[in-house]
Amino acid sequence: MVTEFELIKRFFSRPVSTGLLGGGDDCALFGVTPGLQVATSTDLLLEGRHFFSDVDPRSLGHKALAVNLSDLAAIGARPLGCLLGLGLPAIDEAWVERFAEGFYALADQHGCALIGGDTTRSLQGITLSVTVFGEVEPGLALRRNAAQIGDDIWVSGTLGAADIACRMLAGDIPQDASLLQATRRALEWPTPRIELGQELRAHAHAAIDVSDGLLQDLGHILAASGLGAELYESRLPIHPALMNLSKHTLPPEVLRQALLAGGDVYELCFTAAPAQRAQLEIIGKALGLTLSCIGSVRAESGLFVYDEARNLIQDLPKGFDHFRI
Ligand code: ADP
Ligand code: MG
Repeated sequence: MVTEFELIKRFFSRPVSTGLLGGGDDCALFGVTPGLQVATSTDLLLEGRHFFSDVDPRSLGHKALAVNLSDLAAIGARPLGCLLGLGLPAIDEAWVERFAEGFYALADQHGCALIGGDTTRSLQGITLSVTVFGEVEPGLALRRNAAQIGDDIWVSGTLGAADIACRMLAGDIPQDASLLQATRRALEWPTPRIELGQELRAHAHAAIDVSDGLLQDLGHILAASGLGAELYESRLPIHPALMNLSKHTLPPEVLRQALLAGGDVYELCFTAAPAQRAQLEIIGKALGLTLSCIGSVRAESGLFVYDEARNLIQDLPKGFDHFRI
């Protein structure tokens, strides 16, 4: 039976490159570019709440880091390093190896070195806690409170797929094998939009990553900025797997809920002056990422969503809240 220390040594002690000193000491030490601010964020993932027990450990390693990198993306920071807290009920080496593979692959892709962590036995279920550190120029961070009246509201990528996959796996909606196959990747392998976040520093006012649903997360920008907004359902970027399905496979109210309130999206929702449209199109093209203008910020508080016929939608779906009863 492998011990805690062997486990760390074997799977989580890859050498860390220049400028950073990590792994194996009491603290990790790292430098930041003089004059820049450190951006940091942490996310907790619990078995049974944030991921299914039988999830592929490689995708879990990827996602545990991806959801944190997504927070750095949303504030426009460049990743520096991360910490990993692991609570495991038992040591399954094959599982940990696959988890580490997924984690390191994404960390390497973004130059986000794993510089430390903690490993302990849990009484029940797997608990993961990842903390990321990044750096950003003071004054260029994309704050939630910086939306301006008349700004366009944008969202990157597509919406809806992760929610549909999650609801099928949870048994909330009937499973359709081909629909699950086409949507599951969005749920299990989200792409943190780090490069987009970097580009947006110069062009957007406010940004947030969509983790709990578009309406709820955009609502945070609006509340922090003291403003309201209108959105057009016809402009929402629907994931291709959700298009042209029969009402039987995907009832319209389930699709609406997935688009407006579905979580686990990890795309960026941001606001920018209309004068930025041409620049934003260039950025989207360069990154190979669809950027959709879905509405605009207005002075009147409240979030108004109009359907295809331009009628106001009265009963908006709610986003995810862990403590909602
Ligand atoms: P401490 O007693 O100071 O908490 P530990 O014995 O828990 O130290 O950890 C030893 C070293 O291994 C530390 O440098 C710590 O950062 C690192 N470490 C522990 N768990 C992990 C992990 N899951 N991923 C990366 N590094 C880890
Ligand atoms: Mg420790």
